[in-house]
Amino acid sequence: MSDETQDFLDSLPELEAGKTYNFKCYPGISCFNACCTDLNMILTPYDVLRLRRALHKGSVDFLRSHTTGHFSPDTQFPEFRLRMLDNEEKTCPFVTEQGCSVYADRPGACRMYPLGRATSPDGEGGVCERFFVVREDHCKGFLEPNEWTGGSWKQDQGFEDYTASNDRYMNILARIKEGGIPVSEKMGHMAVMALYKVDEFQAFITRMRLFDRLEVDEERQKAILEDEFVALSFAMDWFELMLFQDCANLKEKGA
Ligand code: SF4
Ligand code: SF4
Repeated sequence: MSDETQDFLDSLPELEAGKTYNFKCYPGISCFNACCTDLNMILTPYDVLRLRRALHKGSVDFLRSHTTGHFSPDTQFPEFRLRMLDNEEKTCPFVTEQGCSVYADRPGACRMYPLGRATSPDGEGGVCERFFVVREDHCKGFLEPNEWTGGSWKQDQGFEDYTASNDRYMNILARIKEGGIPVSEKMGHMAVMALYKVDEFQAFITRMRLFDRLEVDEERQKAILEDEFVALSFAMDWFELMLFQDCANLKEKGA
C-alpha cells in the first residue's frame, strides 16, 4: 500500500471487528455511478490481470491504454493507476449508463467500496486486516437498511479471490520498505514485466530457461506456462527469492 493510501485510510473512521454499517448499492439508486469518476486508484498486479483478461487485451496494450505508471520513490517498485477519461468529469473508462462494464472483474478497491482495507504483515507470512468506512456525501447507499461487517462485505463482494494475491504483493512491498533500501532500477523494470505483463513473463521464463535453475516440479511448470494466474503467483515467488534469497514456495536448484 502506498503511503498516501495509508494516510487516507488513517484519516477515516475504523470499522472495528464485529461492528456493522448500513449499505446497499443498486441500479436505480439516485446516486448510481456517482462514485465512478475522478478516482486516484492504484491497480495491483492481480487487478491488472483480471481487467486485461476481461477486456481481451495484451498487457502492453492494456497498460498503455488504461493506466499511468511510475516507480515509487521509496521502493523503486512500479505503481500503476487506472487512467480516467479526459473529459470534464474524469469518468472511469468502464462506467456506462447501466453501471460498471467490467463488474465481474472490477478492481479490488471498487469491490471493497465504501470500505477501505488496510493490511500489515502478521509476522508469519500472512496479514492483519483493518477496515475503514469511506463515507462520502454523494453516496446514498448508507441510507439503506442492509447491515454488514467488514468480513461479510468482503465475502459478498467476491473480494476473497483478490486477497491471496494482493496480500502477497503487499507483503513483498512491506519487506522492501522494512529493509529501507529501494530495489535497483533493473529490478524495478523486472517487476513491471513479471508482475504487470504476465503474458511477457511467461515467454521470458521459456526464453531464459528459468526452470533450469529453480526447483519447480513438472506439473507446476506446465501450469505456470499455461495459466496466467499461476504465472503471477510464481512471479511473486521468484521476486521474493531474488530480493530476499528466501521464499517458502521456491528454491534454487542445489541451494
Ligand atoms: S471499474 Fe467499474 S466499479 Fe470501478 S470505478 Fe470503474 S466503472 Fe466504477
Ligand atoms: S455513490 Fe454509493 S450508492 Fe451510489 S452508486 Fe456509488 S457506491 Fe453505490
